[in-house]
Formats: sequence, structure tokens, C-alpha cells
Amino acid sequence: MIEKNGVPSKELIESCFPDQIVLEKPKAIIECYKEIPCNPCSTSCPFDAIFIPEDINVRPLIDYDKCTGCGICVYNCPGLAITVRMLKGDKVEMKIPYEFLPYPEKGEKMNVMNRSGDIITQGEVTKVHITERHNKTALVHLEVEREFLYDAMTVEVKHGR
Ligand code: SF4
Ligand code: SF4
Repeated sequence: MIEKNGVPSKELIESCFPDQIVLEKPKAIIECYKEIPCNPCSTSCPFDAIFIPEDINVRPLIDYDKCTGCGICVYNCPGLAITVRMLKGDKVEMKIPYEFLPYPEKGEKMNVMNRSGDIITQGEVTKVHITERHNKTALVHLEVEREFLYDAMTVEVKHGR
């Protein structure tokens, strides 16, 4: 229960996802569960795909017809609440924020965790995107098995880093 331990239920997680057919193209998944006064996801999106109603506390809404999956909102969200996901055959391609040094490297296998912090599988880093514009948040492209579409959330920081 998110109110008790901060971990969203399966139903709550899946309510943030569009139908799987939409995910044949890369799309942002916004898991902003709390009503908080925040809007960088909306103001940073170059395609006006994220809408926050007049009451800034209301959770952001996304227009999947406009979202290109560019990932700009991923590194602009201070709550690390956004990922980009795309289904590709038996895999899911994800873009996730990563804020530790050193950054992962292309080809690296990393432990993938769910929202409880449990390791659920391994994923392969396919690209690491860092620019000055990212304000030191790396956009890590990660490939995981399709069965982890809803459960995969982030990667474990390696010991010794
Ligand atoms: S992924 Fe890109 S296009 Fe989609 S909502 Fe985020 S910033 Fe906008
Ligand atoms: S920037 Fe992140 S935390 Fe803030 S409203 Fe958008 S999704 Fe929620």
C-alpha cells in the first residue's frame, strides 16, 4: 500500500500505463502518485504532451498521441517518477534516470529492481545519454525481458561505486 510503505499496488502501477498496443512506440510512463505542487515534466516537454490542470497539485496527464518517447521529461522530473518504455518483440526497451557516478556503460549487464527495491532480473544497457542539458542525470537505455514491463523500475547501483 502506497500510504503505508510508499510502494504502489499492482493496480495503481498498471493504471499509469496505456494499452500495450500504444507501447509499440516509445512512450513516457508517469508514475507521479502523490498530489504535489510540481510541473517540470510538463514545462520541459517539447511536444506539449504532458498537461497539468490549473490546480498544480493535480497529477499530470499525458497525451500519448503527442508523446514521442524522447525522454526529456525523464531527466527533468525531480521525483524520478517517469520512465520511457517500448515493447520490442520479447523485450522492453526502457529509458530510466540514473544519478550516480560512474555512469553505466553500453553493454553492461545490471541488476534490475522493482519499486520495492527487490532485484527481479538483469537488463542490458544499450546506450547512456549524458549532455550538459541533462544536469548530470544520465538517461540510461535498458533492455529487459517483456514479462517485466510493469515491474522493472530502476537498476541497482553497483557495490563499490
Ligand atoms: S517522453 Fe518526450 S514527448 Fe513524451 S512526454 Fe516526455 S518529454 Fe514529452
Ligand atoms: S515533474 Fe515529476 S514529480 Fe513533478 S509533477 Fe511531473 S511527474 Fe510528478
